[in-house]
Amino acid sequence: MNGTKTVTRVLVTGGAGFIGSHYVRTLLGPDGPDRTAVTVLDKLTYAGNPANLDPVRDHPGLTFVHGDVCDRELVGKLVSEHDQIVHFAAESHVDRSLADADAFVRTNVLGTQTLLDAALRNRVDTFVQISTDEVYGSLESGSWTEEEPVRPNSPYAATKASADLIALACHRTHGLDVRVTRCSNNYGHHHFPEKLIPLFITRLLDGGRVPLYGDGSHVRDWLHIDDHVRGIELVRTRGRAGTIYNIGGGTELSNKELTGLLLAACGADWSSVDHVEDRKGHDRRYSVDCSRIRAELGYRPAKDFTTGLAETVAWYRENRSWWEPLLDRAVL
Ligand code: NAD
Repeated sequence: MNGTKTVTRVLVTGGAGFIGSHYVRTLLGPDGPDRTAVTVLDKLTYAGNPANLDPVRDHPGLTFVHGDVCDRELVGKLVSEHDQIVHFAAESHVDRSLADADAFVRTNVLGTQTLLDAALRNRVDTFVQISTDEVYGSLESGSWTEEEPVRPNSPYAATKASADLIALACHRTHGLDVRVTRCSNNYGHHHFPEKLIPLFITRLLDGGRVPLYGDGSHVRDWLHIDDHVRGIELVRTRGRAGTIYNIGGGTELSNKELTGLLLAACGADWSSVDHVEDRKGHDRRYSVDCSRIRAELGYRPAKDFTTGLAETVAWYRENRSWWEPLLDRAVL
């Protein structure tokens, strides 16, 4: 031992998207871990935006590769050059999966399998599969623990559940160090303006109208991206192989309650809301029990929702140049 610590090389898929880019900015930011190099592999679909990585673009530890997680040759080469994989890349918008699930099955299932296959061949140290609470289905009361079987309802959730099962099977069968995170609904800056919070904010800031599905009573738990990224880092660095970790934000709101808060934050009122037909198969409520990550890794959400939402609205007010060019690509 000469006391020299080697660099940990982390392959981050989907690192130009909403959460993946925040993860990369955090890893390479002032409070990130020492001696960590990051390669982003991203296809730059409608949801991928190279500008999301601008703050770390010139960081010597960052390499950006434009490519597809389904490309076996490229993935094989990249994985052989890395120690760990944090897998965010996915088709992520439920409404799009209702219209056409092809890309969801391809990227979310086949893409994950392609990465796992390369991870096995190259015996990477750790594979973190970023998943979602939507794999559990819908529940009226209480919260899901990680022991809950998956019962996905939307095509999106079904592809994420499939990927989780394949990843966990790789651990059980081949001993690959796979860790799965299942988070609740994320919010924060750099969120593509077709998901509820950024869609409503950008429309309301423009004096437009917003669509509320059904009776608005669907309940989601809201998780700030700072808290989510901290949870993922705890799992990557200290989690257990073969283990699922729920990550929640601790703020459950109905869509109607959330709409009221967004209207107030943007200086609008209920006359700006269109009550539209409910989404097909719309899950009523999601809620994750975070006892495991709290007890094992000391995770606690730190961002107060009122503060986080105000900061998010302020960011969209101040960063029109980021979101205005994206409106053409959004399915609204
Ligand atoms: P996003 O849609 O903002 O970003 C996805 C990224 O993946 C984009 O940069 C896109 O270009 C890239 N990508 C898509 N297909 C690819 C392919 N075939 N090859 C390489 N790159 C590809 O998504 P997000 O909101 O940042 O979500 C990231 C992960 O977190 C996803 O796995 C998603 O399922 C999960 N998740 C998100 C939420 C949420 O609230 N946003 C909640 C739970 C789980």
